[in-house]
Amino acid sequence: MDMTHHVRRVGIDGDGMFLEIQFAPGMIDRVRVEELFEANIHSGGEFILQVKQFPVKNNDTTDPFNRCMTNEDRTRVKHELDIKSHYYNPSKELNAFSYLIHQHEVNPPLLAWDAPDADSHLEWAKKVKHKLDELLHYSRQRVPLNATISNHSVVDGILLQKVYFNSAPGLKAVGVLARPENIKKSLPAVIALHGHNQGKINTLCLHPSKSNSYYGFALAKRGFVTFSLDQWGWGERTGRYKKVESKPEETFSRGLFLLGETALGLRAWDVTRSIDFLESLDGIVNERIGIIGHSGGGAASVYSCVLDERIDAAVISGHFCTIKHGLLAISHCSCAHVPQIFKWLDIPDVLAARAPKPTFIISGEHDHLFPMNGVMKGYKKLAKVYDMHGCSDELGMDLIRGKGHFFRGTMAYPWLEEKIGLHGN
Ligand SMILES: [Zn+2]
Repeated sequence: MDMTHHVRRVGIDGDGMFLEIQFAPGMIDRVRVEELFEANIHSGGEFILQVKQFPVKNNDTTDPFNRCMTNEDRTRVKHELDIKSHYYNPSKELNAFSYLIHQHEVNPPLLAWDAPDADSHLEWAKKVKHKLDELLHYSRQRVPLNATISNHSVVDGILLQKVYFNSAPGLKAVGVLARPENIKKSLPAVIALHGHNQGKINTLCLHPSKSNSYYGFALAKRGFVTFSLDQWGWGERTGRYKKVESKPEETFSRGLFLLGETALGLRAWDVTRSIDFLESLDGIVNERIGIIGHSGGGAASVYSCVLDERIDAAVISGHFCTIKHGLLAISHCSCAHVPQIFKWLDIPDVLAARAPKPTFIISGEHDHLFPMNGVMKGYKKLAKVYDMHGCSDELGMDLIRGKGHFFRGTMAYPWLEEKIGLHGN
């Protein structure tokens, strides 16, 4: 039988992806994609899916908006009431963002760093780790990893192996281990976390990254073992078609907030399990572990490098900034947020809990998401913390002049080599 049905809408609800199909005039039905293809296979017939745009008429006289008053009256009333479409300078009492800043100034973070000496710093850092664990909903059950290598490939002397392992009960992680094909001794390893793009394929240089974040491959070329994860909500861990939903990881992260969880908590737990996995690679990985991430990967790195004490060196790119100047002031994806974090800690406080372990910050001079005034204010605080420990040389920074939300490894790669001993042992 030859049938043509119009697809009126493609969407997603709690049961997954659906098509709204017009089977007859006035008869529209919601059909699951799987059902449609099953029906097609069983009928042995041929389905033609035709996606049509149904234009909305703008000047429809039956439209309630047009019926309730004329445009002339509307313009006059707006003028008389001084009603505008956009208000750029409302008074402080009417300004939503003034309220945020005011609340922060009246209630500064309760666990902000103020330790006078190294001993009290360590006591304070314990409290911070405990609070972060709670706020991020980080700790989970450590199930057996049961790691499997599903595929491998070699390019330019680098062996790439795709690995799946159990991250938590019912949850799997997937990433690519990259290392020099021929190794004579075990090597330091670096966990490479991508930002908002396509997933591990960015860090592995298999897909272009606007920020040049190819450290998963670049560090393997320099002689490290790297592990490029797909962070939850991206790559193989999306669970939705990007063509239907442009930012599935955003919906995922908001859903987690509804459940009392956070994307950063899940992502930090993945890092912990990745270290468990790396530690199981006898003869390939030594005990020196680093982490590197830009943007969304920088966010996950900030929390991971504090929550997991096995991380010896951390490179945070395109995320370090005071919350007041960054996350609080500028529109960011919700997956960079931890509910209530600013009631307790600012980002520099979070990283201070890691001191005096090696930490490196990368920031673009014109980063519109994490402005320079917030970056430098935060860095000054962090420098004070490292100074107090007498370990100023364990903190480093690459301030990229003339660039925006951007990564480069010019300084960070040699720094990692120095800190986690690529050429030692
Ligand atoms: Zn996001």
